[in-house]
Amino acid sequence: MPGKKRILKIAGRLSDPFRFENGKKFRLNKINPGDTLWLKSEDKGKAQEGLQVGIEALAELQDKLYAQDQWAVLLMFQAMDAAGKDGAIKHVMSGVNPQGCQVFSFKTPSAEELDHDFLWRCLKCLPERGRIGIFNRSYYEETLVVRVHQELLARQKLPPKLVTKRIWQERFEDIRAVERYLSRNGVLILKFFLHVSKKEQKKRFLERIENPDKNWKFSAGDVAEREHWDDYMAAYEDMIRHTATPEAPWYVVPADNKWFTRIVVAAAVVKALENLDLAYPAVNEAKLEELAAAKRQLEGQNGPRRKP
Ligand code: ATP
Ligand code: MG
Repeated sequence: MPGKKRILKIAGRLSDPFRFENGKKFRLNKINPGDTLWLKSEDKGKAQEGLQVGIEALAELQDKLYAQDQWAVLLMFQAMDAAGKDGAIKHVMSGVNPQGCQVFSFKTPSAEELDHDFLWRCLKCLPERGRIGIFNRSYYEETLVVRVHQELLARQKLPPKLVTKRIWQERFEDIRAVERYLSRNGVLILKFFLHVSKKEQKKRFLERIENPDKNWKFSAGDVAEREHWDDYMAAYEDMIRHTATPEAPWYVVPADNKWFTRIVVAAAVVKALENLDLAYPAVNEAKLEELAAAKRQLEGQNGPRRKP
């Protein structure tokens, strides 16, 4: 495996161009969903080897994260349908010890969830210290699907006088405040928007229809949702402009090439974890003595008795 310095350098080259810590100047049309930086499609094999290196690095980092038990890591994924959220999560996390990792998928809210504030169901699922928590969709849906389909807002049973024109700005404000609070409590937050083009989405939907093994992934509702594409893009842009902060950056990852999406996500996670300076807990004098005593005891013990 390449050295840590080299891994960090490549991870930065791959992920820094897509990292946004300050939304003010962000424009979605600056990110091309087909972008693959300096990598060409014939470099796909090399990219896959690179991903493997990232996966191994991540496994080591997670082991230290768990042992150190100080930081928690929260990775959030948002995307249009068929952008490859599930695949990115599956591949990037494939080397990670399942004991230290939790994935939660947030779908249409249940009656119980609608009876609470909009952050409730996600905050219940935050990772513990030492763990990596993954949100497959998140409270950001509250500024996306709920904004595009305002009838969903009506179902949220909010007192009418609280539902004003400012509601989306207020949600952004509350989200920023919660993310700042979490970061001050040792939760490292990384947010990924997998940015697929409308054309590539169509191609992937057709594959889901034509390939029997992919039929299960297809839902007719997803096709209808394409009619709101421009509204979704406007909502995504506004969301990123208002919620990209140094403590909880957005990565807007080109998603027309799955191999590229995955290596960028892995690179971003590896780089952010490397920057935490994770380390196994130091062993003090007393612990060293305890270890030495245990060793003496084990060595002094007789093995199983043999029959004469
Ligand atoms: P897949 O890749 O399998 O399609 P998915 O994440 O799209 O995965 P689905 O069950 O297809 O999962 O869709 C979940 C749906 O729930 C999405 O359409 C999403 O917009 C919707 N949803 C998520 N959160 C909310 C919310 N807070 N309010 C309303 N709808 C929501
Ligand atoms: Mg879906």
